[in-house]
This record gives sequence, structure tokens and C-alpha cells, in this order.
Amino acid sequence: MPYAYDDQNIFAKILRGEIPNSTVADTEHTLAFRDIAPKAPEHILVIPKGPYVTADHFANEASEAEIADFWRTLGKIVIEIGVDEEGKGHRLIANAGVDGVQEVPHFHMHILAGRPMGPMLLMRD
Ligand code: AMP
Repeated sequence: MPYAYDDQNIFAKILRGEIPNSTVADTEHTLAFRDIAPKAPEHILVIPKGPYVTADHFANEASEAEIADFWRTLGKIVIEIGVDEEGKGHRLIANAGVDGVQEVPHFHMHILAGRPMGPMLLMRD
């Protein structure tokens, strides 16, 4: 499957420093920042710095170093923000494409925490 990356998407602009962000972590291959419209008390987006559209694009084409850095960074953030203390947990979401209702076509993992998240999905016709 071809993955066409649009370098005018808003996260590409954040990575180029054209748009400000509220940075949580900044490593060689990964940036994490607060969601501008949080859906939970903690809502952080973790993105690779490389031009990947979706999680599967990243998984299929990123280097081992990029993949390791992404997940290590995400793991450290979850520990640092302390949301899993007392076993309360959190939710990770990665939307992809039209059916996944992805707004920004640069792979990002949502970390959501700080309240019960409710059912995973509601079944609809
Ligand atoms: P998705 O629907 O998975 O593509 O989610 C995109 C997310 O990006 C949404 O939760 C938006 O609130 C968030 N977002 C859009 N623009 C910005 C921005 N400039 N800074 C931080 N988060 C943003």
C-alpha cells in the first residue's frame, strides 16, 4: 500500500517549528506535546519526527531506532505523568484514515488519562 505523506499537515508544521506546541518530550526521533483540545485531564500526543502517515506506515517503514525511540518515549511519559499510580491506567488511541476518523495525517498516538474513559466504542449501523 502506498503511503502518501502531506508535508503541509499541522504536525509537520509543528516539527518544522512553524507552529508552537506545548512540548512534553523531545528526543532524537520523537516529539510529544499536549493536545490543543484535550479530551481528558491528561491528553498527550506522541509523534515520530519522520514522515509517517499512520501507525501501520510507521510499523512497516520506520527504522528500528525510530520505533524503539517512539515507544521508549511513550513509556517514559506514562511513568512521568504518574497516571498509572494506584493502577488507574490510561488509554492509547491511534486513528488512521477515513474510517478511523484521523484528522491529522501524521502518525500520532493519543495518551488519554485522568478519568474513566468509558466504553471503547459504540456499535452503530
Ligand atoms: P486525530 O483525529 O487522531 O487525527 O487527532 C488529531 C488531534 O490533534 C486532535 O485531538 C486535535 O485536538 C489535535 N490537534 C490539532 N491541532 C493541534 C495543535 N496545533 N496542537 C496540538 N494538538 C492539535
